[in-house]
Amino acid sequence: MSEQCKRNSLSLISLFSFSLNRSILHTFIFITCFCSQAFAQRALDTVDTEVGKVILYSNKTWALYNPFQFDGVMNPRIHKIMTNEQDSPYSLTWNNEVCFGTKNDLSKLKDTIWLCVNDEQNQEFTMPRKGIVTSRYGFRSGRYHNGIDIGLNVGDTVYATWNGKVRYAKFNDGGFGNLVILRHFNGLETYHAHLSKLLVYPDQNVKSGDPIGLGGNTGHSFGPHLHFEIRFYDVPMNPEEIIDFDKKIMKDENLMVHKGLFRPGAKPTDYYENQPDGTIAATNPTPAPVRTSQLKYYRVKPGDSLTEIADRNKTTVSKLCELNGIKPSSVLQAGKSLRIK
Ligand SMILES: [Zn+2]
Repeated sequence: MSEQCKRNSLSLISLFSFSLNRSILHTFIFITCFCSQAFAQRALDTVDTEVGKVILYSNKTWALYNPFQFDGVMNPRIHKIMTNEQDSPYSLTWNNEVCFGTKNDLSKLKDTIWLCVNDEQNQEFTMPRKGIVTSRYGFRSGRYHNGIDIGLNVGDTVYATWNGKVRYAKFNDGGFGNLVILRHFNGLETYHAHLSKLLVYPDQNVKSGDPIGLGGNTGHSFGPHLHFEIRFYDVPMNPEEIIDFDKKIMKDENLMVHKGLFRPGAKPTDYYENQPDGTIAATNPTPAPVRTSQLKYYRVKPGDSLTEIADRNKTTVSKLCELNGIKPSSVLQAGKSLRIK
């Protein structure tokens, strides 16, 4: 770990020390439902429970005692820079209902901000899912692909990358399907889409390596895969800036956040650094577009097998697996679309 990371480490853990566990989720929801009814009632007593302190009111209702109203700031140092040192301050919300609620334009970011991906208190890193990358960040099918796709089977476990807190865990009808968004102490958010099952709930604290969902094919998805995004103040960046998905390790504990990271479809910085004439490519990206006409899909019929589909479409099973993030042994669901080329 670098010296910088140690010096700037934050001790926010105590702030979130009451950690709920899944078995008491329903109790929590039940209690929350009573909050509005309990408003303006006379408090009679407080009781310590598994979920924290509960206030009992004179009208026989109760509410969870919430001594602080969480404002969503996990990294005060970064937040201070983002809100104070810009001409137009960037905002950050804590919203359990909306994926990205702000209109931050980070292509206008003036500063270069040093971000410690792992600090002294939050040192762990876990791959969200160890698998083959089936689609990278960039321009795809006539639009920008804001994340990276990792092949998996339905039911495979997806893990929290770093320590943090669940901001969003529900079905998203904008295409993500079942989606879990985690906000981390480093100031980043991670998105995990197309899940078959959610294993966490909003406002829950998570540790790096905790199971947060099961892989799936929900939402706008052609075959089971994990769509994984990394966002900073709601704006996506190439996850390969931080994670080496082939070696399955974190590239560096330090991330320099600057406006260049937020060009849509941007290749990771080291891609440009490795180019012989690097500088021009870095300032003027030309993502290779895939024309929609080059893509071909096949709708799976009952009884279809991958081998038959491959033969009929003059391709191979391994090519189909690569394009769709599936394994030769994957069970095909009738009605689902498979990408052929
Ligand atoms: Zn994707």
